[in-house]
Amino acid sequence: MKEIVLSGMRPTGKLHIGHLSVIDNWIKLQDKYDTNFFVADYHALTTQFDDTSMLQENIRNMMIDWLAIGLDPEKSTLFIQSQIKEHAELYLLFSMITPLSWLERCPTYKGQVDQFREQEGKDITTHGFLGYPLLQGADILLYLANYVPVGEDQLPHLEITREIARRFNHIYKTDIFPEPKGLLAKVPLLLGTDGRKMSKSYNNFINIISETDEITAKVRSMITDPNRIRKTDLGNPDICTVYSYQKIYNKNDVLEINQNCRSGSIGCMDCKKKLIGALDKLLRPIRDRRNDIESKEKYIDEVIEFGREKAKIKSQINIEKIKEAMNLI
Ligand code: SF4
Repeated sequence: MKEIVLSGMRPTGKLHIGHLSVIDNWIKLQDKYDTNFFVADYHALTTQFDDTSMLQENIRNMMIDWLAIGLDPEKSTLFIQSQIKEHAELYLLFSMITPLSWLERCPTYKGQVDQFREQEGKDITTHGFLGYPLLQGADILLYLANYVPVGEDQLPHLEITREIARRFNHIYKTDIFPEPKGLLAKVPLLLGTDGRKMSKSYNNFINIISETDEITAKVRSMITDPNRIRKTDLGNPDICTVYSYQKIYNKNDVLEINQNCRSGSIGCMDCKKKLIGALDKLLRPIRDRRNDIESKEKYIDEVIEFGREKAKIKSQINIEKIKEAMNLI
């Protein structure tokens, strides 16, 4: 039997190229593992509970994006979190056994509360947001997942999941839950096009469905080495946002660009043109596939329904075992 992998993504808007590396990594896992990927709409509510007007559109768009990038609904279980009620049920059951202090000490909790207060003037100190790592634990353990593809910043959340699994197994004298491990992916950290942290509120990212003219405008606005005024000025690619993108999306040319920048033999406009070409080459087929998939309403409905059925079967079998261990049935 294949080991189980699970991961999810919040439907908070259009996917950008930063997401592309994450999904490319998921695609690589599809053949080796029993992969389960979900649109985390409950998680979106933890911070966007006050405006859900775009939620349904975002959920559907995320599914279309995933298919366009290359996730295969035959190989992976692709589903929408809120369609599987067992996520909410297990979250409730875990809330009974999880000490509050585990959630309060989560290192990202305070940081995100502060960030939302400062950037959006919004108070997210809700029960739901505090319980976010617990919901994540329920998502993972509901499928008895062995691995979770994570970035390093998500490791503390996974640690809480492992602690919940241990605590549950200990209290109810069972070994039902594995202690899931992180699959640390080599997903490069991508800065926003303005050199700041990539953020929706800064509008400093390139959407995966961007047309050539949008890519061109975003790349043209990128900050370069500020000391380079003329083409012949010696540059430092290490402090240039364009170069940080070249390293990821233009691997074939990156060495040459580095040398030419340092020796003052390439101008920033020409350098940007190379990046525009590389990004357009990368995104064009995704754009085309996405347009094609988007026009097939029935196919999208079928994919969503197929994923729902597969996830339902898995989660119902497991929740029965979990409730049995708790003497709830
Ligand atoms: S030549 Fe390229 S890498 Fe060098 S500063 Fe200009 S844009 Fe950046």
